[in-house]
Amino acid sequence: MQIIIAKNIGFCFGVERAYQISLDTLKKKNGDCQMLGNLVHNENVIADLKKKGLKFVSSPDEAQKGLVIIRAHGVGDATIKELELKKVEIVDATCPLVKKAQDFARKLAKEGREVIIIGENNHAEVKAINGSIDNRGIIIESDKEIDKIPKDKRIGVVVQTTQNARKINKIIKRLKEIIIDIEFCDTLCDAVGKRQEEVREIASQRDIVLVVGSKNSANTQRLFEISKEINEKTFSVENKDSLDASIFFDGAEVGIISGTSAPIWIIEEIVDELKKIKENL
Ligand code: SF4
Repeated sequence: MQIIIAKNIGFCFGVERAYQISLDTLKKKNGDCQMLGNLVHNENVIADLKKKGLKFVSSPDEAQKGLVIIRAHGVGDATIKELELKKVEIVDATCPLVKKAQDFARKLAKEGREVIIIGENNHAEVKAINGSIDNRGIIIESDKEIDKIPKDKRIGVVVQTTQNARKINKIIKRLKEIIIDIEFCDTLCDAVGKRQEEVREIASQRDIVLVVGSKNSANTQRLFEISKEINEKTFSVENKDSLDASIFFDGAEVGIISGTSAPIWIIEEIVDELKKIKENL
């Protein structure tokens, strides 16, 4: 059995940055800091930070006096105001690309456009983007919801950074056909786009594809869906314990890729476990 690891793997730069900001802040404040929401959608990373002393709160109400770190997915303006009113110190670990999507949404709203956000309704990043325009955006999850868009208005479109680029391009093409005045701000993340392209390659070349990451991570799920469409033998793996030894066979080429919130140490543990499985084939 051959184990082939993708070029694009482990944390993306936005998650790495947020993780390092958290570690630096913990060190500076001797562990006395809180994070609003989860840093990223990955239980292994959250468990690691909890072990290092970071406390997690789910709303500004829950925050105690002291310091609050804003997660990589960002938060809306109202949440920032609530934290300011509580007079807590804010350390912003929002990914710069998510900030860019928030800024584009503000600009489009300022121009008097109806802002369309293409993304998952309940995702933290989508809520943060919508929260930067007073929750006045219209969120659509797929082309099936195009009817929600008022076609006679001036429209501005931003996109959840982790969406499937090919799917978004199709939706934008369709919108341009039916809306006269439309401005599209491309807020798709390149780190995610590269992984989506690479997973297509891996899925078509390898016998088995392992997509490492959390089930609640949007970009990991998207990699899984793209791969599964091409290669039936695609499996989602959260950590070494979720490997099913029975799927592997002698001579198999196993491709491994990960979502952007999967830490490299989890991938290394999975590879070590695969090597043990290989010995027993
Ligand atoms: S996936 Fe892209 S947008 Fe999301 S945190 Fe990583 S770099 Fe930022």
